[in-house]
Formats: sequence, C-alpha cells, structure tokens
Amino acid sequence: MSKPKSAECVKVVVRCRPMNEKETADHHVGVVEMDVNKGVIAVKNINNPGDPPKTFTFDSVYDWNSKQRDLYDETFHDLVESVLQGFNGTIFAYGQTGTGKTFTMQGIKEDPELRGVIPNSFEQIFQHISRSQNQQYLVRASYLEIYQEDIRDLLSKDQSKRLDLKERPDTGIYVKDLSSFVTKSVKEIEHVMHVGNQNRSVGATNMNAHSSRSHAIFIVTVECSEIGVDNENHIRVGKLNMVDLAGSERQAKTGATGDRLKEATKINLSLSALSNVISALVDGKSTHIPYRDSKLTRLLQDSLGGNARTVMVANIGPASYNCDETLTTLRYANRAKNIKNKPKINEDPKDALLREFQDEIARLKNQLTSKGGPKKKKKRRQRRNKDGEIIEDDDDDDDQEGGGNDDDAEAYMAEQQSKLDEEKKAILNDTTLIAEVSFSTLKLGYLSCPSEKEKFLEELKEKGEKLMKEREMKDALSSKIKAMESKLLMGGRNIIDHTNEQQRALEQRRQEIAEQKRVEREIKQKLEEKEESAVELQETYASLQQEVDVKTKKLKKGENILQVELDMPNRTTRDYEGPTVAPRVQAALDAALQEEENIDIDGR
Ligand code: ADP
Ligand code: MG
Repeated sequence: MSKPKSAECVKVVVRCRPMNEKETADHHVGVVEMDVNKGVIAVKNINNPGDPPKTFTFDSVYDWNSKQRDLYDETFHDLVESVLQGFNGTIFAYGQTGTGKTFTMQGIKEDPELRGVIPNSFEQIFQHISRSQNQQYLVRASYLEIYQEDIRDLLSKDQSKRLDLKERPDTGIYVKDLSSFVTKSVKEIEHVMHVGNQNRSVGATNMNAHSSRSHAIFIVTVECSEIGVDNENHIRVGKLNMVDLAGSERQAKTGATGDRLKEATKINLSLSALSNVISALVDGKSTHIPYRDSKLTRLLQDSLGGNARTVMVANIGPASYNCDETLTTLRYANRAKNIKNKPKINEDPKDALLREFQDEIARLKNQLTSKGGPKKKKKRRQRRNKDGEIIEDDDDDDDQEGGGNDDDAEAYMAEQQSKLDEEKKAILNDTTLIAEVSFSTLKLGYLSCPSEKEKFLEELKEKGEKLMKEREMKDALSSKIKAMESKLLMGGRNIIDHTNEQQRALEQRRQEIAEQKRVEREIKQKLEEKEESAVELQETYASLQQEVDVKTKKLKKGENILQVELDMPNRTTRDYEGPTVAPRVQAALDAALQEEENIDIDGR
C-alpha cells in the first residue's frame, strides 16, 4: 500500500530578473534588494519613500545573477527525484508578465546554460532511468493550455477542440481525451514540447497577449515497475505538472464593458480562483476550499493542499515602476508558503499504463508461441485508457525487422515448412497416384482436369501460402511486441547513458553544493530568528526597566502610595502559584531587577 507521508509545506522561492536593456537605458531605479544567503528580500516602497523597505523571507531567493542550473539543482532537482519515486510534483511559475516565468520554465532552447526547468527535468528523468537497475519505466507527456476557461490539447492535431474535466471516484480529476505521448528519450520528449509550444501560438493573433493570459501545463507521467519484497510486480506512478501561469498583473478594468468585460473576468477567473483557494487553505478557518471555481484549481487540486509536492517560483522585476505588482506577488507568495500538502507514493493505481503494456505484451507473446498461430493481429495505433485519455502510440519503429527475438516461433515455422516440403516430395514420388480423368468433369466439357497428383500439389501450395501468411503475421506480431517493449525503458538496456565518470562526479558535486547551500541558508534563517527574539527580549527588558524606574520614583516620592496600598480592601482571590510569565519574560524580569552592571542578555 502507499505510504502516507507527513504533511509538508509548499516550497516558495522568489526570482528577480535582471533589468532589461530598456529599463537600463531609461535609467530606472531598482527597488529590490536580496540577501541570497539568508533567503531574504527587501523591496523599497516608492509610494511611501519614508517607509522602511518591506522584507520577506522565503525558502530561497534568486537575484539577477542566478543561474538556471543553480535554481534547478537547489530547488527542483529533489522534486523531480521524488516524482521518479512515485510522488506527484507540481511546479508553478507565478508573477507579472515579463518577469521571467517562461524563462524559468522553458528557458532559451539554443543555449544549454539557459535551459529552463522543463528541459532540465527531461534530462534528469531519462538519466535516472538509464542508471536504474531491475526497474522498468514508461514515460509519457501531455501538454495543455487553459485560456478563458477553455482547455486545449496542445498536442492534438485538431486545435479547435475543447476538452472537458471529468472525475472518477478512484483516480480523481482528469482531462477527458487529452492526448499523451509515450517517449523513450530526451530527444523525443523535447520534440513533444516543441510541437506543443508551436501550437500555443496557433490561432493567437497576438502571441504575447495570448501567452500572458493563458496557463500552460506540461505534464510528465513516470511509471515504474519493480518486483517488490513480496515477489510481486508493483507499479509506482509519479506525475509532474509544470505550470507556466498567466500573468498575475491586474487586468485593466477601465473601459471594459459587455463582452470585453466578460472576457476580462474569464481571463482572471483561474488566477483569482487560485488565490481564493490559497487563502482558504491557509486561513485555518475555512471548511470549504473552492477548487471547483475554475479549471486550473480543479485540475491542480492535488497540488494545493493534497497529494503532491509543490514548488512555487514567484517571479518579479527589479524596477521601481513594477513596485506595486512586485509587492502583490511577494504577499501572494508569502501566503502560499503556508499551504500544507500530504504527498504519498502512488502505488499500483488502477490506471497504470505500464500494466496495460505489460499485459498486452504478455498476451501477444502468448499468441505468438501458441501452436495454432495468431488468430488476429490487433492494430492499436491510438489507444484509449480507462479515463478516455488517448495514448498515441507513434509506431515509428514498427517497421523494423522483427521475429528474431522469438526462437520458439521461429522453430515452429521452420518445422512447419520442412513438413510441407517433405509432403511435397512424397507426393511427387508416389507412383500409386495416377493421372485419372474424372468422368463428370469430362461431361461438363472441361478439356483439362487435374490429376490426383496435381490436386494434392495444389492443396500443398495452398498450405504453403497459408504458412507464409502465418509467418508474416507472426513477424508483424513480433515487431509489435518489440515496438511495445522498446517503450518500456530499462536502465543500461535501451537507453545509453552518455555521461562519463567525470561528469557524474560533477553532478554529484553540484548536488552536494546545492544541499550545503540549503543547510547554510537554513542555519542563517534560524540565527536570524534567534536574533529577532533577542531584540524582542531587549525591548521587553527596556519596558520592564522603565516600569521599575517609574515605580521606584513613585515610591521615593512619598508614602501616600503605600497608604493607598495599605487601605486595600480584603482580598477575595488567591495568589496564583503557577508560572505567571513566560520563562523568557521572567528571565528578562529577573535581569531587570538585578544591578544594572550585572545585566546580561543572551550572553552579550
Ligand atoms: P513571462 O513569461 O513572465 O512573461 P519571460 O520569461 O518571457 O516573462 O521574460 C521576459 C524577458 O526577460 C525575456 O526576454 C526573458 O528572456 C528575459 N528574462 C527573464 N528572466 C530572466 C533572467 N533571470 N535572466 C535573463 N533574462 C531573463
Ligand atoms: Mg511567458
């Protein structure tokens, strides 16, 4: 059974892009300051220049110098690793248009250094598989877009079709008829991504406006089968959602009426629903979480307070004119930190495609080896799983020469052929068979009639043709099996790991550095917290000291205070004996009552 994991928070990181050329040329001032070692960000509020900068602390923050690779190693690597173990994982890029959401998710494809999360995850997934042992993997990808509450399959040939969300009691929410491509390599899955990216702009009159108003979700499903301790085959399924959200900037409300207003509302719907879901999840009072309010929140329900690990990247710009949006994004991100998820490994789900593949392969193999030969060859270019999800089976390698892998079938065929050959020889050599002319055929006027020998030979020829056909079918069957098996990936077999030892060592080192950075940041953040409480303590002390001073002064002033105290009415209460003040305050109190020079707070 799936092991329930304890709750864990959504991880939120902030990334600030560099000033762009125009901003630099226009001499815009930067309002963002980041302490990447502490995960702290400060934003100067240009509306109230006198105010101190607003500061926020996140799991980590990335400034304009951040490298795609560092972000990946430190923030996404572990998430993708857990997807490979059968957890669901979601990565959101949130923020105003033009702040780097697409740069973070996709990156610049021509430059390996500038590749974003999505292509880097492909690399990690296939590398992991190539290094695995005794496991079988099936990787598939889907790509969809939500625009004005319509779901479009970015991998479908028909880009005018809109898809619906459906729900099944066992497997939850899914997109009906969403296509999904089984991919065997980084190259194949990258191709799938490019096709989807091209389709994003199909029908969009203004690509920039379109991409800033639509949500794009790239989904990779990784299924892994392995023999468990119980000697049974178990399948774990991890799903990775990579979400490039619509721009978070407020849509201009002014002037929009009628259809245009409706359009503006629809554009905002999924994003505002996302915001409402986050609010409801973190306020601790809501019993109802409004997932059903939008397509996005319904589809990603698991990623928000459910069975998934989630990372949110809040993208911001550095310049002063973005200050308001930047602060809005940071407040939003700050709330998202408090969402608690309960991720668990998805084991043996009913809809595992890998199981279907394994069963189908076993069935075909069975057909191949059965003496009776193949009954019929099932051609399934497009398959539909139980969710109605269409699995495209791009049989690109179906034409390869098959048959060689099944010795049994080959032997069977050879045996049949030699039997036929022998039979033929026997007929030809049989002298008891004579060329008799049938009386009835003569009467019907046939000039030439087959002799008995010829008839036998004719039958034999037919048998031979049947055998040929059977052989062809068997060959086709083995090709099919081969093609299906080739989609099931196994470490060291059908994927070649091109990385050498040196590269692997480098990767390992990168992971270690990322981990070290994380630990250091955590320690710094904890120290910061301690320092803050020390400051608090000092403030408490200061006010207590003041109180003591005031009281001492009053006491010194005269006896009237004492008299008042002596005139107190009879007490009806008891002395409270428990700890009246928190130990920390008590310590400060004790300290305050000591001689001034003996005061020592927090060891200083
Ligand atoms: P969004 O998807 O949020 O609208 P983009 O990813 O399209 O924003 O980024 C806008 C522009 O800024 C692009 O030209 C992109 O290459 C550039 N950019 C964004 N983030 C960075 C970064 N961290 N470093 C360098 N260039 C960046
Ligand atoms: Mg974008």
